[in-house]
Amino acid sequence: MDTHVATNTDAVMQARIELAAACRWASRLGFQSGVCNHFSVAVPGRPDLMLINPEGYFWAEVTASSLVLADHQGNILSDNGNTVELTAFCIHAPIHAALPQATAVLHTHMHHATAICMREGGEIAPAYLSAMSFYHRIAYDRAFDGAALTPAEGARLAGVIGKATVLMMQNHGPIVVGSTLGEALLRLIYLEDTCKMQLLAEAGGAKLVPINPALIGRSEPQRFTNYGRTLMTAVVRTLTREEPDFLG
Ligand SMILES: [Zn+2]
Repeated sequence: MDTHVATNTDAVMQARIELAAACRWASRLGFQSGVCNHFSVAVPGRPDLMLINPEGYFWAEVTASSLVLADHQGNILSDNGNTVELTAFCIHAPIHAALPQATAVLHTHMHHATAICMREGGEIAPAYLSAMSFYHRIAYDRAFDGAALTPAEGARLAGVIGKATVLMMQNHGPIVVGSTLGEALLRLIYLEDTCKMQLLAEAGGAKLVPINPALIGRSEPQRFTNYGRTLMTAVVRTLTREEPDFLG
């Protein structure tokens, strides 16, 4: 299998730039915990491969060329010397393998979404405009069994995600998937905003006003995907101006 030719196209270079940009942007938003947490994308034209941020680096340090190219069996195909953290491989690779619609898989321990995951029976209330496109596509995993240390755990999580685009893992944190990286990043931002808003709105025991269920999920998926593309363009444009070393 000649992986070099197929993974050296303009589309793959663009995917590298966007993934590095997504890491840097999420770092600015305070979504990273230590040097943990990972973002991955399926390689354009090679859905059996993924790009993922390297082990041991802050998202703020990630560059297009520092990303790791790996297959779903954990074989590293890039030659920059970087590696993939075990739990990252065990979560991301099985989800890419099981869910072809999950082009992008983003996992964080961002504070407000994770706080909802820590609540007994914690659920995201359908009460905020920004999450109307995914309230009906949130899955909850209540079977916390420590950090994911085997690909079987990732495969189990993929089964819980199914057709959902957000997975809230009890005692752990969220996973967001998307048909594009821009779409997934937009959803990740909206998820954290939504959870923050909910915690603020519920402060003092206040009761939330639920959105009319007939309105939820009515927005067209393509519109959200397009908005995600617009977000990604703005993120790349801003970072190219302010910290262009991510392109290297
Ligand atoms: Zn985690």
